[in-house]
Amino acid sequence: MDNDLSHAIDPHSSSLPLDGLLRKVGTHDRLVVADREWARIQLAGENRLLEMIASGDSLRDVLDALCNFVEKMSPECSCGVYLIDWSGPTFQLGAAPSLPDSYTEPIEGLPVRCEIAPCAVAALLKKQVISADLRSDPLWQSTPYCAHVVAHGLRSVWSTPISSRSGQVLGTFAIYHRNPALPSGRLQDLIAQVTHIASIAIERAQAEARLKRNEILLAEGQRLSSTGTFWWRVATDDVQWSDESFRIYEFDSGTSLTFELLASRVHPDDASFFMAQVQEARLSGNDFDFEYRLTMPNGSTKYVHVVAHATCAPEGHREYIGALQDVTERRLSEEALGKLRSELAHVARVASLGALTASVAHEVNQPLSGIITNASTCLRMLASDPPNVEGARETARRTIRDANRASDVITRLRALFEKKSIVAEPMDLNEATREVLALSSSELHRGRVVVHADLSDDMPVVVADRVQLQQVILNLIRNAADAMSGVEDRSRLLTIRTEREEGDCVRVSVRDVGVGMNPDDADRMFDAFFTTKADGMGMGLSVSRSIIQNHRGRLWATPNDGPGTTFAFSIPRRPVGTASFSISGGTHASAASATGARSV
Ligand code: ADP
Repeated sequence: MDNDLSHAIDPHSSSLPLDGLLRKVGTHDRLVVADREWARIQLAGENRLLEMIASGDSLRDVLDALCNFVEKMSPECSCGVYLIDWSGPTFQLGAAPSLPDSYTEPIEGLPVRCEIAPCAVAALLKKQVISADLRSDPLWQSTPYCAHVVAHGLRSVWSTPISSRSGQVLGTFAIYHRNPALPSGRLQDLIAQVTHIASIAIERAQAEARLKRNEILLAEGQRLSSTGTFWWRVATDDVQWSDESFRIYEFDSGTSLTFELLASRVHPDDASFFMAQVQEARLSGNDFDFEYRLTMPNGSTKYVHVVAHATCAPEGHREYIGALQDVTERRLSEEALGKLRSELAHVARVASLGALTASVAHEVNQPLSGIITNASTCLRMLASDPPNVEGARETARRTIRDANRASDVITRLRALFEKKSIVAEPMDLNEATREVLALSSSELHRGRVVVHADLSDDMPVVVADRVQLQQVILNLIRNAADAMSGVEDRSRLLTIRTEREEGDCVRVSVRDVGVGMNPDDADRMFDAFFTTKADGMGMGLSVSRSIIQNHRGRLWATPNDGPGTTFAFSIPRRPVGTASFSISGGTHASAASATGARSV
């Protein structure tokens, strides 16, 4: 950048040189013309300085040019700009192009204290300090400052504070003369103008430095958290990425981005899901939040979590601002943990199933052998001649007693799986649902289940046992995920919905697109110990049914129009009386079931 303002201020460079002009006119006119010419040159110089600021010249260059400009306007003087670091507070050299290093070097880091220099007084008192002749000025004449200035052949100093728009002093502007001097009105005007320009330049440089610092912080934060940011204008598909986003996708930064290019990195199993989410965002304008995988050029897999918020730009264009985070490490450790957990759970299930079978066999065997013995005795008594009717009646009674004992064993077993008493409390069913979703999120993610939560905004507070209802929801979600574990030809979509129902009831439904209900098993699904899974216990739906019945509600399953099943339960908002909340009071008058629905 050309810092030499001489063409702006040199009177000889004007088409009508100032000297020539002055020679041609009378005294009064000479003053008027001289004033006009001074104003014109001053304006041109100031404009040039402002241009330098606007075109982003460095602060040092602008301040150098500013000093040169004033020195050209008032040829007898030398100028300096000193910045202030208020954390000291100390001075820093801003610019002093015509002063030697021996003069300016001691200024770097000089404390801003009143006794140090007129510039310190100007900064601290926020006013101009004029010392026309330091050597005869009682304030300064015997100070080290005066000795330093005089040693450099200078006599007078005028220090003016440079203030920000908010009134904070950013620095000082000093004008020195070799002879005693006082500023004229015209010079004072020039000083006011240039200090104002200096304040603009300094404030801008400070704002730029802040911005740069923030950019560095942001980039560092993005790098540390493996989170990139992006911007997407829907109408034109313009996309802008931060460096970290490029890094996550392993594209060279600056690669021109298209959705085809982005999709080419997406894992083949997630590609249709990814494009469906993009399409959904394009059409609906809803915020989005989902996870997908990338296949990198070296064949490795990355897990990416993307979150974006839709905004409407002033011109009416829809835009998304979002973040994408590389969650590979987290996912891999979760997967390892989840695998370990499910192996443990399987071992525990098998072990407990084995123990359970042994105890069921033991407990039920006794009454069963009693029943067999009693029944044969009964037959023998009836077959004797004459038949021993009284004896046969007694053994028949014992048979019934033993049969009841066997049935008690089963009832006790079921009770093992159920919490007997209900702790009813006002609860937010949506929040409880969200909690269950959060708890099972890694399990669902592992099963590549895409969750669509459609939770009504209009849900009333429900009085119920929160933990038990969460147990039911969790069970329905797990069953839905299990039912979809073999699905490969479509997204494994699980839709969970909460809604208000007529009659002061609320409903939660879990819809999957899995294997669907086997019509032969439809009646038995809710029976204890009914399972079609290799490692299932068949207690989930049976216990869920009891819980919902204890809440005076109902639980049912409906085959979907398309693939899969919808399980739903409906409970009244409030329990009618505590009696109905006991486990034995679990029977209920079932409300009319929906068409095609099986009420239990
Ligand atoms: P488990 O999950 O241990 O098998 P449950 O009582 O929860 O026990 O489920 C019983 C059976 O009901 C399952 O084994 C399965 O055959 C069937 N079932 C449950 N949920 C679904 C579903 N969403 N889709 C199809 N079948 C299901």
